[in-house]
Amino acid sequence: MSSVNIKRLIRPEIQALSAYRVADAEGMIKLDAMENPYPLPEALQKEWAAVLASPEVNRYPDPQAPEVKKRLREVMNLPGDLDILLGNGSDELIQMICLAIARPEHVVMAPEPGFVMYSILSQVTGLTYKGITLQSDFSLDLDLALEALKKHKPAILFLAQPNNPTGNVFPIEQVRALVESTPGLVVIDEAYTPFCDSDYLPLATEFDNVVIMRTFSKVGLAGLRLGFLIGRPEWITEFDKARLPYNINSLTQAGAAFALENFEQFQAQADRIRADRKDLTKALQETSGLEVFASEANFVLVRTFDMEAQHVYAELGKRGILIKCLDGAHALLRNCLRITVGTPEENAACVQALREIL
Ligand code: PMP
Repeated sequence: MSSVNIKRLIRPEIQALSAYRVADAEGMIKLDAMENPYPLPEALQKEWAAVLASPEVNRYPDPQAPEVKKRLREVMNLPGDLDILLGNGSDELIQMICLAIARPEHVVMAPEPGFVMYSILSQVTGLTYKGITLQSDFSLDLDLALEALKKHKPAILFLAQPNNPTGNVFPIEQVRALVESTPGLVVIDEAYTPFCDSDYLPLATEFDNVVIMRTFSKVGLAGLRLGFLIGRPEWITEFDKARLPYNINSLTQAGAAFALENFEQFQAQADRIRADRKDLTKALQETSGLEVFASEANFVLVRTFDMEAQHVYAELGKRGILIKCLDGAHALLRNCLRITVGTPEENAACVQALREIL
């Protein structure tokens, strides 16, 4: 097919997008993607192999993944009046929500800088995306946000709590005010909730326009690809219609059910990462040339002064350390770098390299 035809057929907003790119991490200390640095707990590895050998992979998976949902209910202590929708990562849940709500005149909003998939998937599904710009310290100017909600009347408001890439949590009074002023659905994205005290689940019962999204990705199971949406049955029933029938494969279902049976071991790793975040934050604060932003997630955002972040990123790369450079991603992220909390040794190597470079 000629390039003229491709230009004519592919929607202009898709042509204008850049594909989501992941840096090559071969042989590097990998602190770029908010993964848990620890492998599957040793005590579970043998049993895990047996569990993954059991599904009949010649058959389609159960489209409802009942075992996973049952155990999720128990582990997360979910109220009986809320339902669960599973996604191939929470990315897929964002896509399902957008697909179910998509109309060109519908607006999606989210604080910015924020998680890029809200904007990408809004545009891919034909919605209109508008960011709510945060203040320079990444806190939310509530009056400004309420004004923006009044003006654009969003069909969906995504609120990541804690926010990525900034790591902060918006105070509960602000979240309530946003929920009360949003005419559409508020999706509270708790991807990083294993690393903080905030828990917005009660809001899904309290408000009829709130659903809660969580993921297994940050607690050591990013490769499994499992996210879950919790909400009133009225919402979940509709979003379920935008789900591909067999989106959670048999191996993921078996692995997730097993992981949930042993969830305390994954939570223990998350608790350890949370403690190590404190040490990493302190070490970064004691490194000259950096402004360090307080984080409630499994990463820490820093800003370089006196030296371009792009240069620091490249120098870290030469020393075998991969982090995320956010310079250029948003005006407020000028000279910002995001460092995922790794093992204590990885964190120390990163800090040591930063001290050499800065
Ligand atoms: N929400 C937020 C705020 C994220 O940062 C991420 C991943 N970086 C996701 C959702 C997506 O996670 P996953 O698709 O792996 O569940």
